[in-house]
Amino acid sequence: MQVEKDKVVSIDYTLTDSQGQVIDSSNGRPPLEYLHGKNNIIPGLERALEGKNEGDAVKVSIAPGEGYGERDANLVQSVPKEMFKGVDNIEVGMQFQAKGPNGAPRIVTITKVEGENVMVDGNHPLAGETLNFDVKVMGVREASAEELQHGHVHGPGGHHH
Ligand code: ZN
Repeated sequence: MQVEKDKVVSIDYTLTDSQGQVIDSSNGRPPLEYLHGKNNIIPGLERALEGKNEGDAVKVSIAPGEGYGERDANLVQSVPKEMFKGVDNIEVGMQFQAKGPNGAPRIVTITKVEGENVMVDGNHPLAGETLNFDVKVMGVREASAEELQHGHVHGPGGHHH
């Protein structure tokens, strides 16, 4: 069975950045299962897997525009510390959920603490990165009617609800 829209695909993968550092890998975990054609994975990887079969290996380098986007300098801003009421120790690396410009939830990361000001970065941690995927297609199956309706995979490794 081929990888195409509305099929459930399971993949083993290793993701490295442009310096060859491993950022993420399914190594030691069950393969990642996702519903193809529903924006469940980044566009560049979805495109590279289109038409592949079980057992196929895919190596692809994905530019930021096809990955997590370019870094947006407007998403880096300085905010007063009092915005983090109830948090005792504001530290670099902490992540909070905030509202993005379009009202959608967005994760922001604290990048600097300077006196009463805190620098927050709303970019995805992998924004601006070229992503190198080394992928093996472990399986392709039909999606259930329920999975198609929800737009995501159910069962082990998928949504539970
Ligand atoms: Zn569901």
